[in-house]
Amino acid sequence: MKFCPYCKARILDESIPICCGCGRDISGEMTETEIEMNDGYDGYYDDLDPIDKGEQRGELDKVLIRNVILVIGIVVLIILVCVIALLFL
Ligand SMILES: [Zn+2]
Repeated sequence: MKFCPYCKARILDESIPICCGCGRDISGEMTETEIEMNDGYDGYYDDLDPIDKGEQRGELDKVLIRNVILVIGIVVLIILVCVIALLFL
């Protein structure tokens, strides 16, 4: 199997003297660029843990919920005041 000497892309068609990965001319170099590609990388990073590994889904923040309800209540109150003012003034 032949590989591009510049970008290590596999040369699928050796009759085409241009690398399909980087587009460089590989007509001269291609024959002596047999490279051992087995570096142990199989395409998956199994050894890397996700950043949230071991963390449980957190409890909802009670203060945040209280503040959201407070804001909604204030907005509803303002709307009611506006509707009442529109009807009776
Ligand atoms: Zn290339």
